[in-house]
Amino acid sequence: MKVVITIELTNRQELILKIVKDEGPITGEQIAERLNLTRATLRPDLAILTMSGFLDARPRVGYYYTGKKGNQLISETLNKILVKDYKAVPVVIKEEASVYDAIVMMFLEDVGTLAVIKNKGILAGIVSRKDLLKAAIGKQNLQEIPISIIMTRMPNIITCQLDDPLVNVANKLIHYQIDSIPVVRPFDGLDGLEVVGRITKTTITKAFVELVNEKDI
Ligand code: ADP
Repeated sequence: MKVVITIELTNRQELILKIVKDEGPITGEQIAERLNLTRATLRPDLAILTMSGFLDARPRVGYYYTGKKGNQLISETLNKILVKDYKAVPVVIKEEASVYDAIVMMFLEDVGTLAVIKNKGILAGIVSRKDLLKAAIGKQNLQEIPISIIMTRMPNIITCQLDDPLVNVANKLIHYQIDSIPVVRPFDGLDGLEVVGRITKTTITKAFVELVNEKDI
């Protein structure tokens, strides 16, 4: 996924960047001399430029330009955010449960999607709000219809794993036009996938906001 975000630098930071590009590696003292400023005045600018990845610093060598554009740096940062850092707890229901049970659970758990599991917690399917609404349109008794009849079932479930970059999962949510993706891992000694979490549009929004609030990126 292409992410284009611009980091805005002040004029002085742009100047520092140019000096380091042209003359680096260069010490903070030398940069300060070129700009007729003190090393102390430059300290916050150098901190910003190194923290945002434009510059790198090595002891006894000085500052040098990392050669990366702003959006390249942001992509690198985003790719380091993994599903396991942000996943929400899974909300699961057994496949023998009724459509009525699923509606009640959705209200009680305040979620929009349930993972349907069979014996031992193996992922069998997914039920969303619209699946339940569709089932509720007819005249059937909702307590008698098992959710296994109306769920989207394996192997058609889009899943993700603990070590996937979160941005890849965001891409899947958009591509497949779904609200939620179960986090799974292979089941020890059994065929099938164990549900260990979920990523929803809310998870992605939370990660996005936290990323902006983080000081050290
Ligand atoms: P809603 O039905 O509330 O709009 P979704 O857009 O997530 O929620 O669901 C749309 C359809 O996609 C439903 O039929 C649902 O069963 C199915 N679905 C939801 N999540 C997944 C998934 N991770 N993999 C495959 N199908 C899914």
